[in-house]
Amino acid sequence: MTAADIIIENGRILTMDPDRPRASAVALKGGAIIGVGDPAEMDELSGRSTRRIDAAGVSVLPGFIDSHIHIFAGGAQLGSLSLAGLSGYERVAAAIRQRAGRNIDPGVLVAEQAAYSIFGEDEPITRHVLDRILPDAPLALFASDHHTMWANTAALKAAGILHGREVPPGNEIVMGEDGLATGELREFEGFAPITDLTPTGGREMLGLMGHEPKSPPTSAQRAVDLGILRRGLAYCASLGITSFHNMDGNFYQLELLEEIDRAEGLGVRGRVPFRMLPGMALSQLDKAAEMRRRWNSDWLKADFVKMFMDGVIESTTADMFADYEGMPGVSGFSFFEQDEFDAICTAADRHGLQIAVHAIGDAAVNRTLNGYEAARRANGSRDSRHRIEHIEMLAPADLPRFAELGVLASVQPTHAPGGAYPLEPIVSMVGRERMRTGYAWQTLRDAGAKLVFASDWPVAPLDPLLGIRTAMTRRRAFEGAPDERQSLTDSIAGFTADGAFAEFAEDRKGVLKAGTMADLVILSGDIESTEPERIDELKVQATICGGRITYERPA
Ligand SMILES: [Zn+2]
Repeated sequence: MTAADIIIENGRILTMDPDRPRASAVALKGGAIIGVGDPAEMDELSGRSTRRIDAAGVSVLPGFIDSHIHIFAGGAQLGSLSLAGLSGYERVAAAIRQRAGRNIDPGVLVAEQAAYSIFGEDEPITRHVLDRILPDAPLALFASDHHTMWANTAALKAAGILHGREVPPGNEIVMGEDGLATGELREFEGFAPITDLTPTGGREMLGLMGHEPKSPPTSAQRAVDLGILRRGLAYCASLGITSFHNMDGNFYQLELLEEIDRAEGLGVRGRVPFRMLPGMALSQLDKAAEMRRRWNSDWLKADFVKMFMDGVIESTTADMFADYEGMPGVSGFSFFEQDEFDAICTAADRHGLQIAVHAIGDAAVNRTLNGYEAARRANGSRDSRHRIEHIEMLAPADLPRFAELGVLASVQPTHAPGGAYPLEPIVSMVGRERMRTGYAWQTLRDAGAKLVFASDWPVAPLDPLLGIRTAMTRRRAFEGAPDERQSLTDSIAGFTADGAFAEFAEDRKGVLKAGTMADLVILSGDIESTEPERIDELKVQATICGGRITYERPA
């Protein structure tokens, strides 16, 4: 008889296993689940060295899988000033000046989580406004979506871009009529000169473009980066997360994670993609294959390709079929031409790689679906599970194509207006008609699409319980708009079983049954009897990953 290392009993266990959805006890040994059932069934698995944990009637779930995060950037932001939820000049200025007084941001003070309308709907963020807040020291505000940054004059000068600079298409250092930069910096290459000034030199952002550090980081710089990743991983564990799909990647980040894995274990299982960019030769995909060879364990794997098709609605860079509301001639753009994108999808698919593409506007989603269809036409049908990230706007004609092509809809509940964020400005920018199929989670589900949920941390808060709450309680965009709220079971599955499916691991994680990985989370209460609006008030009592306790809530 094998004695369990740990038996959790008296829990309200939601296994997410359709064959046995509920249980009250679960036994773990050597990183795997060896039994799920009632206490009597578990008794025969109990030995003298077995640790018995009394879950006292609270919910026990499979460990959360966050299918879209940015671990390096998220970890780096944990120590930064956050402007989340702040608006109005006086309040923002006070927060920034207080932080500046503490003198803990060498190089440039970067305030995170700024709303595009932080100073008011019609009040653009310019270097002049920021100069009033902090005239002499470099200051930058980072939009929560990480697609735009605003810098004051001192920061623009320090970065050497006050007079502008040539940047690749799709990126922009916005210039004013006076011939000087306005302070608005669009997309990665637009604000890279500013992030270069931070203690990490912007290394946490390099994976977004798939770049490697320009020169090998020194051991001191490496130590800074390892510390950031360790903080990020610990933060994941504290919120019940046992697996994440990173949505940026490079060899450097993978090597850092491997170093932590070797030293003390990651505590959270990670997947990291190869980043394919417009204009790259198809032969670059060999690097993705190399990544997959080097990192292919249960703890760290590099087994997919990530691309960006477009930007975001707030900065009108999301690619739409029709103009933005009240903005003639403005409809966004796609980073890839259809031909080039089809060729990349076909080649990556032939390598057997899963593809994940950021697509927010309806035209970008359409182009992405076309690419997946082209790959299928060329290579034949296989269980590819290609994914589209975000899918904020969707042409009604494209609805059935998710099921037809077996494409996963990877959506982030907290991103939707009417949930964690207000309905405006999004609804006005796209108009009501388009919002009918905007953030269309239930509509997609009803059309046969498979969904998976995620946070997109640090773009939005990491807490999966907030994600579940938002998925269940989001308001309609306007009266008469479809109700896109999710059931509790679908919401939990989106952060557990569906995440496992999205990484071809549905037999091994995301459900609690004998033989799956011992990854689970114990909550502070019963999620089923908690009002949906209050689910994010629940806390994580303990997180177990690979049979090891990776987080325990302090008493
Ligand atoms: Zn993202």
